[in-house]
Amino acid sequence: MTEPVSICVIGSGYVGLVAATCFAEMGHRVVCVDNDEAKVKTLCEGGMPIFERHLPELLSKHRNQGLSFMTDLAFAVAQSDAVFIAVGTPQEGDSGAADLSFVEAVVSEIARSIGSYKVIVEKSTVPVYTNEWIGRVLHRHGVPASDFDVVSNPEFLREGTAVKDFLHPDRIVVGAGSERAAEVLRRIYAPLTEGTYYSTPGALAGQRSESNPARLLVTSPQSAEIIKHASNAFLALKISFINSVANLAEAVDADIEDIAVGIGMDSRIGSKFLRAGLGYGGSCFPKDVAAFHWVAQQRGVDFQLLSEVRKINDAQRDIFCNKVLSALWTLRGKRLAALGLAFKGGTDDIRDSPAIDVIRRLLAAGATIVACDPAAQERAREVLAESDKMRYAGDVYEAAHNADAALILTDWKEFGEIDLDRLKGEMRFPIVIDGRNLYNPTTMREHGFTYLSVGRPANYEARQGELRSVAI
Ligand code: NAD
Repeated sequence: MTEPVSICVIGSGYVGLVAATCFAEMGHRVVCVDNDEAKVKTLCEGGMPIFERHLPELLSKHRNQGLSFMTDLAFAVAQSDAVFIAVGTPQEGDSGAADLSFVEAVVSEIARSIGSYKVIVEKSTVPVYTNEWIGRVLHRHGVPASDFDVVSNPEFLREGTAVKDFLHPDRIVVGAGSERAAEVLRRIYAPLTEGTYYSTPGALAGQRSESNPARLLVTSPQSAEIIKHASNAFLALKISFINSVANLAEAVDADIEDIAVGIGMDSRIGSKFLRAGLGYGGSCFPKDVAAFHWVAQQRGVDFQLLSEVRKINDAQRDIFCNKVLSALWTLRGKRLAALGLAFKGGTDDIRDSPAIDVIRRLLAAGATIVACDPAAQERAREVLAESDKMRYAGDVYEAAHNADAALILTDWKEFGEIDLDRLKGEMRFPIVIDGRNLYNPTTMREHGFTYLSVGRPANYEARQGELRSVAI
């Protein structure tokens, strides 16, 4: 049994809260700090600020046992051996650069509280050399070099499967400049890398086991920082690639779903991230691809491929809106059911959601929208206020009532299990435009729908209509 480590996690968002809870689940003593008092109050009182599978159970198991929440960063840092920084690193304006002001504010606060050796861990996604920069800020605040090491430990979890991803990772990357610091990180992750967690009664089951434990890769800090950005950029590239192939498939009446299976069967390529659709969104891919591109530019490296990835992704939303227009001729006065608000299924996160962007464009073109989402409705109301043009429904059937068309905008599992006869009965016209390819075109045709999807032969006379597509 490994010795528990005292850990402070700063930031209780999608990454910080999951990391803090999972560290407690691995047997460590964890304090999670946030400067959002309302969020900390919610967490202390047993509430859940985000929607994430398995998190409520693990939180109630560890809250006030190995896991506590507070706003007092100095107190939390003082009693910890390792301090994980998990605050946001959004995009700063149009340059693509990451805004590191939240990280800087936290590092300055940490500097005032360090009284003994601590490992400061970058968990947030940051550009290369941030590690060095954090060290410089600590020095500038008078912290002696003997009191800290800075380690990069990027996070690869995906919202919707975050807890499982954290406890059953494909890999753990530790970018450390000193063996002493690397050793602290090895101790923290030992329950996963030695496999002892997986044989604990009640352990969450997943891809890892005692005989197939998690792997930990130690690199330089710069390499670890690049691994995170390059991983996200590569996944974004795969999505843009398959979307471009989908557009070609559609133009020649081929089927992107068959094509993706055929490509993905090649073990060198792999089947994941070959889903054609509305393109990527969320709080990570758009800003990480932009930041990675910016980093390359700063170092004089011509990484044009990344601007193409972004261009293709943006265009995918235009193409979808044009498809809606081609099916409905004009949008003014049309009532559309929007199925989905979150940037992907399984989360309530709407940051840079393609669904929200598409809805905004359709509203601007004169449509009336009735939207529904299993988890993201509350957050969506904050950015798309309810009005006579923008309404929210309790479920898919209510959203579809009297609709001229239904649009599938988020790949929620629930949207792939709709009672199609009931849906058709609710709608004014049985038109479904699927931006996530959740249905089989033949099934939809058999149920009497006009069905348009991405990269598949259209069963619809509006092929001609597409030719007059107008940017909206
Ligand atoms: P988030 O916005 O959900 O959470 C950030 C939290 O930090 C918020 O609760 C905020 O109140 C808190 N915070 C900000 N400043 C603070 C301060 N000075 N003191 C204490 N708390 C402070 O962000 P997130 O989605 O959890 O992402 C965090 C980082 O992890 C980002 O760099 C992101 O790119 C990276 N990341 C995110 C994901 C993901 O799926 N969301 C996956 C991997 C990596």
